[in-house]
Amino acid sequence: MASGEAFPSSSLQADNLIHVFWDEGMLKHDTGTGVFDTGMDPGFLDVLEKHPENADRVKNILSILKRGPISPFISWHHGRLALISELLSFHTQEYVNELIEADRNGGKEICGGTFLNPGSWDATLLAAGTTLSAMQHIIDGHGKFAYALVRPPGHHAQPTQADGYCFLNNAGLAVQLALDSGCRKVAVLDIDVHYGNGTADGFYRSDKVLTISLHMNHGSWGPSHPQSGTIDELGEGVGFGYNLNIPLPNGTGDEGYGYAVQHLVVPAIEKFEPDMMVLVVGQDSSAFDPNGRQCLTMEGCRDIGRTIRGMADKYSNGRLLIVQEGGYHVTYAAYCLHATLEGVLNVSEPLLSDPIAYYPEDASFPIKVIEAIKKYQKETVPFLKDA
Ligand SMILES: [Zn+2]
Repeated sequence: MASGEAFPSSSLQADNLIHVFWDEGMLKHDTGTGVFDTGMDPGFLDVLEKHPENADRVKNILSILKRGPISPFISWHHGRLALISELLSFHTQEYVNELIEADRNGGKEICGGTFLNPGSWDATLLAAGTTLSAMQHIIDGHGKFAYALVRPPGHHAQPTQADGYCFLNNAGLAVQLALDSGCRKVAVLDIDVHYGNGTADGFYRSDKVLTISLHMNHGSWGPSHPQSGTIDELGEGVGFGYNLNIPLPNGTGDEGYGYAVQHLVVPAIEKFEPDMMVLVVGQDSSAFDPNGRQCLTMEGCRDIGRTIRGMADKYSNGRLLIVQEGGYHVTYAAYCLHATLEGVLNVSEPLLSDPIAYYPEDASFPIKVIEAIKKYQKETVPFLKDA
């Protein structure tokens, strides 16, 4: 795949830093144990597992950034709780009240696999507030690249409901803050293996926010996730064409992702000309994730990070917010995040080698699918007609 252009000397300068926003209170969201994400004990298994969205995964991301080879490039910042009033820029008061009520009553499973337990609501407010702080840091000109290391994740949370381990849409709140702070157009690229349906839904009728999601073709998964993630969910009204879904076959791999980014993502962002960019990252698109089958390795993650940084340099004066979503392999998710940030830093040589990538990949079928999506988008999406 294309690996970007020559590395600018700026990659070695002091301002080539990633500002990471984090608060350890987010570890207190305890999703329990069971059979994968069900919270269920069937009675015939001696060993149950932690819910995939557990604190360990984020502890490893935290520690690899503190002690891994990328650590000299990291500047650390504290997170904060979001105010209830801030949530209303994306979510309805009625929905927020439901969450407050559920917390007050000791918590509950809001929808499949999505547990609001004691301690979860504070962690959720911290995830939202910490993401807002990261965006504010960029808006105030204190740094160009900020990473919100947050959980619970947010990209499935819609204005009116929770979904897929998510309660509040952290990235969506940050996008709205950017718009409210004077940004004209925000581009959001979501590379979590699942469709970023919540973020898409929040801006479905807007031409100010271009949401692009690369995901597996999982379709709707019930009332909490009515969206299908198919290519024809393009937005509505003036927002028509400004939600681009890129459902990719299982096993797409590094070359297929690179092809999709170069042939679908880059041209759309070039046409859109955003003045703020948001990269929504979930390492569940990795080769070893228990929740996905897309087979990205560290190399693929690094390439995506590098390409998006190039787009940010070109259009948004380098301004790029990165928001953490899924990623459930407790060690490899941390490696893949490390690689993504290496790409964003545009380092000339990988800082960390891949300890486990060994599956062969065949991109021939994914490339056919991507070409078909490209043809459909050029025929259907007004702003991409001559892209
Ligand atoms: Zn996911």
